[in-house]
Amino acid sequence: MKKRLTLAVFFIAALGIAISSLFGVWTYRCQEISAARQTLIELLNLLDAQSNYTGPEALVSQFSAAVPDKRLTIIAPDGTVLADTLGEVTKNHADRPEFQSALSGKTGEAMRQSDTAGIVLLYEAKPFFDGNVGRISMPVSSVNALILRGVIGFLSAAAVALVLTLLLARILAARTAAPIERQEEALSAQGEKLQTVKSEFAANVSHELKTPLTSIKGFTDMLASGMVKKPEDQKQFITMIGVEVDRLIELINDVLKLSELESVAMPQPDERADLLDVAKKTMEFLEPVARSAGITLSVTGMAQTVSISANRLRELISNLVENGIKYNTPGGRVDIQVENREGRAVLTVSDTGIGIPPEAQERVFERFYRVDRGRTRKTGGSGLGLAIVKHITLLYGGSIHLESTVGKGSVFTVSFPAAT
Ligand code: ADP
Repeated sequence: MKKRLTLAVFFIAALGIAISSLFGVWTYRCQEISAARQTLIELLNLLDAQSNYTGPEALVSQFSAAVPDKRLTIIAPDGTVLADTLGEVTKNHADRPEFQSALSGKTGEAMRQSDTAGIVLLYEAKPFFDGNVGRISMPVSSVNALILRGVIGFLSAAAVALVLTLLLARILAARTAAPIERQEEALSAQGEKLQTVKSEFAANVSHELKTPLTSIKGFTDMLASGMVKKPEDQKQFITMIGVEVDRLIELINDVLKLSELESVAMPQPDERADLLDVAKKTMEFLEPVARSAGITLSVTGMAQTVSISANRLRELISNLVENGIKYNTPGGRVDIQVENREGRAVLTVSDTGIGIPPEAQERVFERFYRVDRGRTRKTGGSGLGLAIVKHITLLYGGSIHLESTVGKGSVFTVSFPAAT
């Protein structure tokens, strides 16, 4: 990734440098040609002033001595060459574009291959005061030599810029790629962790399913073998099969609830429920279970509207209250309190039960974690109740807190943003 990023940044920057260098060279060439033209015009102006006193031949020989690298031609208005530093006076110059421009009173310019010298020349022609036309030419190659020196300068600057670009591209790529690579590593680690959690969950579910199924298989085998003869024994076996089937149904329901909460559940903005009302109804529903376990239930507090569906709230409260009844002793209590604390709707479920040891208090919200497996086997329960409670709480922006003392009881406090 770093390499690709370096190459991409370098390529873009190199393209930019190449384009700007080409443009620079071209601009530089234009400037140099126009400066050369300007020099020729200035020379012509000087010669024009001189031509009043000096005839064409003398003017040409003076010029040749003073400026040997340039050619001066004095042309009569009919195109006849009157004098020339190269001594070429035979050809008529009437058809030369720079001469024609100069005849019309302007400064004439041209750049073309010279018939005489065979090289590309830059021409500048000017109408003189005496009626003749003065024309100076110089080889473009001398301008090109200057440009070449400039180009070498440009190329060296471009080379330095390219090296710097490569360095900067590498630094930039390293800086940009580092957090992305770290994120990728974190994501893959997270993916692996998720995979492990999923396989652990699948293994746990299979194990949880296996236990009641093995019992059912044992009971049915015994019944089928004919060894259980007495009708009352047969009835007891069938009742036990029923208990195990209920256990299976409870487990499957809880697994489905949990996977729905984890994957598809989304809080809906229009969901509303009164915490106190749902708590009262749930307690009424659980009253017979509590009575048979010798537990007293109570609900107190004030109405608190929250943005949660009544079904989810019932799910949450019944899981907490059922645990309060299950992990309790006859004569015990489960109390619900609903109140508003600093703008939050708070539900407290306290019991006078067996309590949870400190080292297990964090873990009870994990899937399938149980403090005492033997006891759960007797009381029932999928081991997913508190995981479901925690998921519902977090899904609706709430928080859950547990305080518990072994032998005294537990207090689960759930708080949600109060709905307006
Ligand atoms: P379970 O189906 O086993 O009740 P939960 O997820 O509801 O599963 O609870 C996990 C474990 O936490 C229980 O097995 C139990 O050991 C402990 N626990 C939950 N609630 C209470 C409580 N009110 N008092 C004591 N222990 C509790």
